[in-house]
Amino acid sequence: MGCLFCDLLEKKIPADVVYEDEHALAFRDIRPVAPTHVLVIPRKHIAAIHELADDDALAMGRVIVAARNVARKLGLEQGGYRLVVNDGDAAGQTVHHIHVHVLGGRNLSWPPG
Ligand code: 5GP
Ligand code: ZN
Repeated sequence: MGCLFCDLLEKKIPADVVYEDEHALAFRDIRPVAPTHVLVIPRKHIAAIHELADDDALAMGRVIVAARNVARKLGLEQGGYRLVVNDGDAAGQTVHHIHVHVLGGRNLSWPPG
């Protein structure tokens, strides 16, 4: 079965890329829920947190570092920001290629819905 974010990595579909490195790609969410809403994905296809292998630890660490770089680049560090990973149906995961949401630019309530 095809993967939307693998297609995006392979440039088969367009994306508003804000950051990329050897391990990760970051692009603006098509339906933003905050003034800044970016998705950071590993270049390796991993479907979800519950499917992570122990060997994926480094790849995921790289994604978190990339998210930090995105926040820095887009000026979110001073005001603060949130990283979110939805896993499975109850959390509302809709794309089955791990992605970290970087949300910022407004006050974010807690707990999330
Ligand atoms: P999830 O609900 O799986 O945690 O998040 C998936 C996110 O991907 C959603 O926020 C949705 O708006 C975003 N999304 C879905 N399709 C596309 C697309 O084709 N391009 C971009 N940039 N974002 C997408
Ligand atoms: Zn994929």
